[in-house]
Amino acid sequence: MRYKVGAEQVEHVPSLAHRPDGVFRVARTAPVGPTHAVGAATGAAAYGIKTHGLEVLDQDWEEAFFVEKCPGCFAAVVAQSSPWCDKR
Ligand SMILES: [Zn+2]
Repeated sequence: MRYKVGAEQVEHVPSLAHRPDGVFRVARTAPVGPTHAVGAATGAAAYGIKTHGLEVLDQDWEEAFFVEKCPGCFAAVVAQSSPWCDKR
């Protein structure tokens, strides 16, 4: 199961994109505060929160090392991806 980043709040961070034909202003979407793991296939959060109101980013949650992660989702994802752990 793949998980996407589910952010409670996002901000649009202005940044500059350098391209061969010039420099452009672009807005990058960055999560604010803790993020939750939202199943890419199911659209449901891994742990204990309604996804209603979450902004799901097109970003792999497990690989998103730069965001703050909700400890509940983190534990749930680790438990699910470890075959030697009992499923709870
Ligand atoms: Zn969570």
